[in-house]
Amino acid sequence: MVMAKDYYEILGVSRDASIDEIKKAYRNLAKKYHPDINKEPGAADKFKKISEAYAVLSDEEKRRKYDMYGEEGMRGYSTEDIFRGADFSDIFRDLGLGDIISDFFGFGSFSSRGRGSNLFEDLFTQHFEDRSPRARQRRGADLIYHLEIDLKEAVFGAEKKISVQKNELCPECNGTKTKAGVPPQTCPRCNGTGQVQNIRRTAYGRIVNIITCPDCGGRGDIITDPCPTCKGEGKITRSKTIEIKIPPGVDNGVRLKIPREGEVGDGPGLEGDLYVEIHVKEDKFFKRKGDDLYCEIPVSFGQLALGDKIEVPTLDGKKAELKIPPGTQSHTTFVLKGLGVSRLGDMYVKVKVKIPKKLTQKEKELIEEFDSAVSKNKKQIFGRIFK
Ligand SMILES: [Zn+2]
Ligand SMILES: [Zn+2]
Repeated sequence: MVMAKDYYEILGVSRDASIDEIKKAYRNLAKKYHPDINKEPGAADKFKKISEAYAVLSDEEKRRKYDMYGEEGMRGYSTEDIFRGADFSDIFRDLGLGDIISDFFGFGSFSSRGRGSNLFEDLFTQHFEDRSPRARQRRGADLIYHLEIDLKEAVFGAEKKISVQKNELCPECNGTKTKAGVPPQTCPRCNGTGQVQNIRRTAYGRIVNIITCPDCGGRGDIITDPCPTCKGEGKITRSKTIEIKIPPGVDNGVRLKIPREGEVGDGPGLEGDLYVEIHVKEDKFFKRKGDDLYCEIPVSFGQLALGDKIEVPTLDGKKAELKIPPGTQSHTTFVLKGLGVSRLGDMYVKVKVKIPKKLTQKEKELIEEFDSAVSKNKKQIFGRIFK
């Protein structure tokens, strides 16, 4: 569980504290935890917390947002944003640290001062952001769902319901991982800081390292009674039905992004995304190449020889008319403009003679009659070609 930040509690002031009271509280705490004064492990982290609280509560607009939405209201702010505009220099001067400190920190002018801003960045990236409980919040994983659709759906678009197996926030504990009515306890080993000293004795003396608290994993609190529904995971796996809209004209391999329908993260708004990858089933009749459609229509010898009007199926279920002129060769391709995947695409229709495999006696006689009616001269030409 992520430790909730209560800026008022951090500064030890009431929620209706005046700006002067907030300033006074911060000044007293800064005197104790300023990294130039206090070299104890954990002091820098504490200093970060009180400075952040002060930066927010001393700024009218940020305080109003925080009052209304709590920590959630600060989500849009980067660390830099939170500190931008906050004035610490007066306080530090009062503490006898004077202008040097404000220069060092370079509040309000993060990029302009060489050494000052470097120190600032060091403090706030190394000590603060990496170890803050907030930085431990992980975004949920993205998911990929492979969806098979037919060509008609790919061309005209469709609405589909898919069932996705995924981790969701536990509805029982709402992701807090703890049993209702049994709040997490402050970790006794690290006292809620999430960090402990690790002391090693070496030939050169003691080496003190600050490490993540092994008992609470850096969270600062420990769940004594885990939520029975999720067994303290904060999330449960279940399948969710999601309605998706497939836009017209999608092709094989297209990925549709469904924001925030991936796996749940460590907090609200940290869900991963769902990607629906489109696989278009092969159509029995049409082949697709880009925006164009290709098909083959079986016709009879007579239809090609004498000419005909035939109906060609289209994807939308209607029929298009194709005029075959007399004397058309088998395997001739006709183009029907604008009848492809989009209006930009065309339909290519290849007509192929279908030779009947079984003939009645009557049909045999008619074909023989026709064949002998064709001049011997023509037959000889065929003979030469195919010899
Ligand atoms: Zn639960
Ligand atoms: Zn701990």
